[in-house]
Amino acid sequence: MIIVMQPDAGESAIAAVESRILAEGLRVHVSRGTERTLIGAIGDERKLSPDMFETLPGVERALHIVKPYKLVAREWHKASTLVRVRGIPIGGEAVQMIAGPCSVETEPQMRAAAAAVAAGGARLMRGGAFKPRTSPYAFQGAGIDGLKLLKDAAARHGLPVVTELMDVRMLDVFLREQVDVIQIGTRNMQNFDLLKEVGRVDVPVILKRGMSATISEWLMAAEYIAAGGNHRIILCERGIRTFETAYRNVLDVTAIPVLKRETHLPVIVDPSHAGGKAWMVSALASAAVAAGADGLLVEVHPNPPEAWCDADQALTPPEFTRLMRKLSAVAEAVGRRMAGSASGEAVQREGIPIAL
Ligand code: PEP
Ligand code: MN
Repeated sequence: MIIVMQPDAGESAIAAVESRILAEGLRVHVSRGTERTLIGAIGDERKLSPDMFETLPGVERALHIVKPYKLVAREWHKASTLVRVRGIPIGGEAVQMIAGPCSVETEPQMRAAAAAVAAGGARLMRGGAFKPRTSPYAFQGAGIDGLKLLKDAAARHGLPVVTELMDVRMLDVFLREQVDVIQIGTRNMQNFDLLKEVGRVDVPVILKRGMSATISEWLMAAEYIAAGGNHRIILCERGIRTFETAYRNVLDVTAIPVLKRETHLPVIVDPSHAGGKAWMVSALASAAVAAGADGLLVEVHPNPPEAWCDADQALTPPEFTRLMRKLSAVAEAVGRRMAGSASGEAVQREGIPIAL
């Protein structure tokens, strides 16, 4: 059972709920979020009924959740959650674009990338400073210097940054450098110790789908983060492994409506790692927006042939601008709008949509 506390519930009200659960012989799990505290009763729930708690001070609601994932289930939270990143809402009517290179390389590369994605209408910038590479001999990322280059380039255009955390020992550095969104990559989706640690901080997390993870495993991974008290989670579908070898991964478009039904968390899509080729990105991104994605994570590089990582799938700046125009029309057709564009129409100045 989960007991949803009122936003202003004090410690004594929380303690009273805990005692009531313990008195029935169940275990307690408290998830203290920034907005409210959620208390889980773990054990034989048949002994509990909602009215045992709903009469206690500070309790908003108590309910049995059938699903194995609890805090992230739509079952208790009918409204879609809005995750705000420095005031930018992810999960609302506007579809957000997060764009930038696969990896942070050099200062000129990052400055050019930031200018291009901001001009195209992206509201957040991505860039990996710690890269999970298949080969130990491949470029592993620019590290802490890379974080600084990303922050600096993005700040010139007022863009919050998204970057991947692979090693829990780097979490303090991420906090010190004020990373705005921590990305957990596909290879770490079930790194439970890492999930527990990002569950303890108050920084939004993009949780990418494990390349062979079921929806249920993915939502249980999100539950780990929520259980620690970090409720600011964004799910990112990035393609899954199948028998098909003609493209890098298979974009699971079906996951979008399924997740929208199962969870109140925002859902974004990474068409770049799904297809693995730049020419596929427009079709996959359009499909994602049409299917209800709340945002996109797209790789853009000022000069893709020279990219140090994932060169085949990076869009050039003009390709990115064209993609944003197309997505504005797709979003409008499904009753949404691309953020960075006004009332569904990209604002044009000399042919370039301007971020509002
Ligand atoms: C990335 O976004 O740079 C990345 C490595 O993605 P994924 O974890 O989905 O492979
Ligand atoms: Mn990449």
